[in-house]
Amino acid sequence: MLTCKQCGTQVEDGVQNCTNCGAPIEAPVEQANDSAAADLSAKLNELNNTADTTAEYDAQDIEKNKVMALLAYIIFLIPLFAAKDSKFARFHTNQGLVLFLAGIIASVVAVIPVIGWIVSSIAALAITVLAVIGILNALNGRAKELPVVGKFKILK
Ligand SMILES: [Zn+2]
Repeated sequence: MLTCKQCGTQVEDGVQNCTNCGAPIEAPVEQANDSAAADLSAKLNELNNTADTTAEYDAQDIEKNKVMALLAYIIFLIPLFAAKDSKFARFHTNQGLVLFLAGIIASVVAVIPVIGWIVSSIAALAITVLAVIGILNALNGRAKELPVVGKFKILK
């Protein structure tokens, strides 16, 4: 059932005009949006439901190297050298490196007209989103795999 915004009369779904006052009945757009948003959020949650190995890391290491871990997503070379003994920083450096390599591939693909531009733009956006998730995980002291790229382990 829908409710007429004009007079409050309840009308059947699919009715275009109010049976009482004739005002046009608006489809419940908000409801549709809500369920689409809920759908998307469920999908994102599923995508972000990745392995979390925080328990395998030393709490002191995590506390000391959070900043190094987040730098891994900006300039992975810094923690690679500055925190090379930190297992926690290494975890994030690995993911930062995978994103960096994905970025290089995206820029190479960008030389292909149109298709390459589209693919590389989407990839650049995805890389940015993943880097932000990685930075947040690092700040929260979590060794949580990133969606999609987290499975790749380049560094030992
Ligand atoms: Zn009405």
